[in-house]
Amino acid sequence: SWHVELDRVSVTYPNGTRALKEASLRIEAGEMVSIVGLSGSGKSTLIRTINGLVRATGGTVAVGPHEVTALRGRALRELRGHVGMIFQGFNLAERTDVYHNVLVGRFAHAPAWRNLLGIPSPDDREIALTALDSVGMLEKVWARGGALSGGQKQRVAIARALSQEPSIMLADEPVASLDPPTAHAVMSDLRRINAERGLTVLVNIHMMDLAREYTTRMIGLRAGEIVYDGPAQDATDAD
Ligand code: ADP
Ligand code: ADP
Repeated sequence: SWHVELDRVSVTYPNGTRALKEASLRIEAGEMVSIVGLSGSGKSTLIRTINGLVRATGGTVAVGPHEVTALRGRALRELRGHVGMIFQGFNLAERTDVYHNVLVGRFAHAPAWRNLLGIPSPDDREIALTALDSVGMLEKVWARGGALSGGQKQRVAIARALSQEPSIMLADEPVASLDPPTAHAVMSDLRRINAERGLTVLVNIHMMDLAREYTTRMIGLRAGEIVYDGPAQDATDAD
């Protein structure tokens, strides 16, 4: 499991928007942390600097043994293979069954020739099925992505990320498009994965009550600056 360290990280987009302003934080391996803030406060930008989808224009980002801000090309792609990522929109292949949607995670590490052939090894199969089981979706293994409810899709997306055997899990508004009971179920899955696997989990979320209930530490962003960093239980909306 990996730690994360941001040292005075700034991101200015090409159009001049300053999305992050000298943000510094350290997250230890195995922590479960929420990043909260209004829409546009920089949550998504922050999380994307960690897997290198967004490049910091100032400061440094380290994750586990890697200094992300120094990586390019192939080294960056290799890093992403170790970073599990889930999104608000699930990003499942709708016409493909759950099993093959999850297997995609296995090919995050595979050499290109194996990607081309798309042939899973017995290990790949077992890891994919174990991941599905750990989010309670094993019985849907042959359902097509498009046939699932929103909550089921997000749990399959979690299984896909888990099948990468990631060293850290980043979730960008994973429950924003789910109804409240389903949002609780998905947050509860993430918390269980954090507890059982000791996996570092960082989750962007704009719902304070969910952040308080399911994470232990909360980081509050406002207009690109960290305005709160502390126990999730103590955080109030005013923070
Ligand atoms: P959040 O996830 O909290 O909604 P974002 O990180 O998505 O915040 O956005 C932070 C700010 O950066 C916002 O003002 C947003 O409009 C802007 N922004 C995000 N992505 C881009 C981009 N690719 N180009 C320009 N501005 C962007
Ligand atoms: P929806 O149809 O609203 O999207 P879901 O498909 O997310 O709902 O959930 C359907 C049911 O499965 C809910 O009652 C939910 O509590 C339950 N559930 C949620 N997470 C799990 C899990 N990991 N394993 C088994 N059941 C779950």
